[in-house]
Amino acid sequence: MKYAERNKGIVEIHFRSPVTFALFFASLFLAFFNYRFWHESIAAFWQGSPQDVFFLLSLCMLLLLSYATALLLIPGTRLMLVVTGLLFPIGAAASFSADSFGIAIDQEMIRSLVNANRGEATSMISPRLFLYTLGLGVLPLFLVGGTRMPALPLRRHLRQRGAFLAAALGFAMIAVAVFPSRFSALAAEHRHLPYFSVPGAAVHGAIGFARSGFQGIGQDRLAYPAGAPRRIEKAAGAKPLLVFLVVGETARHANFQLGGYARHTNPKLSGIDNLLYFPDVEACGTSTVVSLPCMFSPLGQEQFSVAKARYDMNALDVMAGAGIHIEWRANNSGSRIFSTRVQSFTYMERGPAHLCNDESCFDEILLEGLEERIAGLAGDAVIAFHQMGSHGPTYFKRYPPAFEIFKPACKRNALDACSLEEVRNAYDNTVAYTDHVLASKIGILKQAADRFDTALVYVSDHGESLGEKGVFLHGAPYPVAPEEQKRIPFIFWMSDGYAQRMKIDQTCLQRQMPLKFSHDNIYHTLLGATETRSDAYRSGMDMLAPCRAEPQ
Ligand SMILES: [Zn+2]
Repeated sequence: MKYAERNKGIVEIHFRSPVTFALFFASLFLAFFNYRFWHESIAAFWQGSPQDVFFLLSLCMLLLLSYATALLLIPGTRLMLVVTGLLFPIGAAASFSADSFGIAIDQEMIRSLVNANRGEATSMISPRLFLYTLGLGVLPLFLVGGTRMPALPLRRHLRQRGAFLAAALGFAMIAVAVFPSRFSALAAEHRHLPYFSVPGAAVHGAIGFARSGFQGIGQDRLAYPAGAPRRIEKAAGAKPLLVFLVVGETARHANFQLGGYARHTNPKLSGIDNLLYFPDVEACGTSTVVSLPCMFSPLGQEQFSVAKARYDMNALDVMAGAGIHIEWRANNSGSRIFSTRVQSFTYMERGPAHLCNDESCFDEILLEGLEERIAGLAGDAVIAFHQMGSHGPTYFKRYPPAFEIFKPACKRNALDACSLEEVRNAYDNTVAYTDHVLASKIGILKQAADRFDTALVYVSDHGESLGEKGVFLHGAPYPVAPEEQKRIPFIFWMSDGYAQRMKIDQTCLQRQMPLKFSHDNIYHTLLGATETRSDAYRSGMDMLAPCRAEPQ
């Protein structure tokens, strides 16, 4: 930087060259946007020796040079200014989520943000968000606006940038050669750290998101690659099937009493017969936008991508194609991305006052008119419910006042402003409310058991961090996601009629329950549970198949 001066009310900053400009703005990011990154890096690498200081300094230098290099690779000074201007609001958002919740902005997080609804967006609004937006997102734009750079001949441009790139590369090689073990630790056991680097990780995520958006465009609406939906022939005189498929939200295994949690978060479900709890089930992703289409897809986590799943025949398509009446009742916005092919009803954001608050509606709203609906059903049916469950950060808005069982509950959206105990209390109240809603659904299914063979499947889309290691909420990049965000509850309940019809072997179920499963099993388990088959169905992936005596 050469000097700053006021000119007609605008503060002008004169840079000698694009190189000084790039270094100036890269250092702004490193100094003001990377609190979480530095905090965690120091915790990971600082053991008190002088080498640690040198390593952290060279890490800082390396990031400075890489960010400056990235800016210098942009042709033309005007485009450089535009891109720099865009980086500030992106960096402010990334910095806010990293500092407040320990959340990194990556490709899937951007997908979640794009799919967020009004309620989810407003649940994040806080004075701190305002400060970050203004201080990091808007104010630096005046610096960008006031930037003045001399018009250099192209040759000098190229020479300066070339010299800088060579120096940066040289420094990087020396740094890695001097600290090989520390840099390999950064890539191995501390590989979550680069995700907190602002704005690099968010830009990388945005590019990945944009690229994935183009995948699959131009394909047929439904490719039916693993189609041929069909039903298993049922016994003469058998009742129709009625299955409730409940997709929970943000429920983690660790806080389910059914899974061994010490608190009474499942008082009602614990007293219900024929209810199976599978304690070792892993989610496909750490966000709704990934997990939801993934669990219904036959692709499995390894093959799955959101773009591919859009054109694939999911479990709901197969069951509908086989002649089962399917309907999707949503109290959650995440459904929009894939439930367009089945009849769906959205309950969120409207409903009677005792079932809704200023942000969203309680999950009991999904029961409105349900019994009348069932009375009108004639054949086999699957009614799917996408619950609001334990969606944060405003846990205290997910349940009616009567379910404030664990107190004091955190009543703020800035979770790190509450004690961990208050956060846990609020979250546990959401689980206790989910317990009540699920028990009510089972009650409705029991009442319908004279006309239908009934069952209920409950599966959460992903877990949640409640402040473990300073991390809150969910959406961590999967390779570095903590266990709490991945391990989810899975419940299967069946009526006596259903158990007899399927010739369920109870001792087999006891053996089956503790086994390790994942969302990859859901497609096959749902088809199996509704006597449906497709070319993609694998009985080896069906969690209940070994315990049924029906033809496979
Ligand atoms: Zn979710």
